[in-house]
Amino acid sequence: SEPLLQVDDLKTHFPIRKGLFKRNQGFVKAVDGISFQVHRGETLGIVGESGCGKSTMGRSILRLIEPSSGTVQFEGQEVTTLNRSQLRKLRGDMQIVFQDPYASLNPKMTVGAILDEALSTHQIGNNAKQRKELIVDLLARVGLSPSHIGRYPHEFSGGQRQRIGIARAIAVNPSIIIADEPVSALDVSVQAQILNLFEELKATLGLTYIFIAHDLSVVKHVSDRIGVMYLGRIVELADKKELFKNPLHPYTQALMSAVPSLDPDVKKEWIILKGDVPNPAAPPSGCPFHPRCQFAKDVCKSVVPKEIPVSLKRSVSCHMYDDEYKNVFSVSSVIQ
Ligand code: SF4
Ligand code: MG
Repeated sequence: SEPLLQVDDLKTHFPIRKGLFKRNQGFVKAVDGISFQVHRGETLGIVGESGCGKSTMGRSILRLIEPSSGTVQFEGQEVTTLNRSQLRKLRGDMQIVFQDPYASLNPKMTVGAILDEALSTHQIGNNAKQRKELIVDLLARVGLSPSHIGRYPHEFSGGQRQRIGIARAIAVNPSIIIADEPVSALDVSVQAQILNLFEELKATLGLTYIFIAHDLSVVKHVSDRIGVMYLGRIVELADKKELFKNPLHPYTQALMSAVPSLDPDVKKEWIILKGDVPNPAAPPSGCPFHPRCQFAKDVCKSVVPKEIPVSLKRSVSCHMYDDEYKNVFSVSSVIQ
């Protein structure tokens, strides 16, 4: 069937302006050629270290940030060329839940007013009374009570505030929600409750998610498929089970080795990632992961890896899996 969302070669580059005349000194390629599909009812997890462009990607899809190029199709409709009023309509179908609910909630508005504003903007409910009924229902859906309606964001805990953020997102009956690190600001004890709420709402409301996180165990919990992001690109995309069973990209392998196993008998070989995430304003040449990759060869320093389709539902961007460079990797491994 047709994907709900199709993203093709999406790029969001920010100009670096320096000096007296603010002349353009190049670009930060925050999102640098991302393609994927999301099917109705699935959760696509996006994982990567902070600064890899995950949030910029999420916002670019919704055009909260304008992408530089590429296409985004929602139910076959091109999003990147919509005008303001068309875009407002689209936001009824595509919502975002932010990492920091406090920053995204107006501190001067009560919960009731915040939700009423969302409903009014999207012309849901004929009058204030109807909207109030909807708001009471929304609060119940996210595990809050009708008595919370007149309270202000600062009167709530972090977890409760995220519930308000989620209520605001589902208020307008979206079909897809982009969740941008929705639990990373919360206590670990609260994280599971919020993740369960996402799962519950997905089932009852038939939602589709793009779930962004830096924490692989969070993404593992909620996703059907996972895209691994590094410096503005998806370097591996696979079904969750396949990805965890057999991670192909050296970066995915390194990320996974850092996830502690719950089974104390399972001894993991820890792969230590050398160095920090490179400066996205001056990314390494060739494969952007090469300075940190334990398998890097000369070719990795100069040639950008192609996206290799390793199976119908799986792709990886690494020369090791490219027929063209197979010899480079196998010959040297024999020598080692
Ligand atoms: Fe490592 Fe080379 Fe693969 Fe990049 S292309 S991940 S440097 S082996
Ligand atoms: Mg972020």
